[in-house]
Amino acid sequence: MNEENKKTCNGYEAMYTFLNDEDFKEHLKVCEECAKEHARMQRVSELIQEAKPYIKEKQKRRTILKSAAAFFVVAFATLSIPLCMTGINVYDDLVAQNSLTAQEMGFPVDEYGFLYVE
Ligand SMILES: [Zn+2]
Repeated sequence: MNEENKKTCNGYEAMYTFLNDEDFKEHLKVCEECAKEHARMQRVSELIQEAKPYIKEKQKRRTILKSAAAFFVVAFATLSIPLCMTGINVYDDLVAQNSLTAQEMGFPVDEYGFLYVE
């Protein structure tokens, strides 16, 4: 940075804010510091542009995931009640089956103890 630039440059942000486009471009030509900063800003801006579709895609995926999680919670809460009742029924059936076989109930059975139908 030479003496002239030191006098005229108030820092990249000040120059960017207070100079018009033309003067700012002129300043970038003579001020190495601001030119560097400007190049860095351009790169950041480019990166943001490049990252935008990816960020959006990620947000979309996160929304789907959230919806799926919410759906699962609701579905589980709704299904768990009848599921419990079904569980009780299955348990009763098992107990009934164990306590009383077809043979014991007087039905004709084959050699495996299954109900025999001719
Ligand atoms: Zn400058």
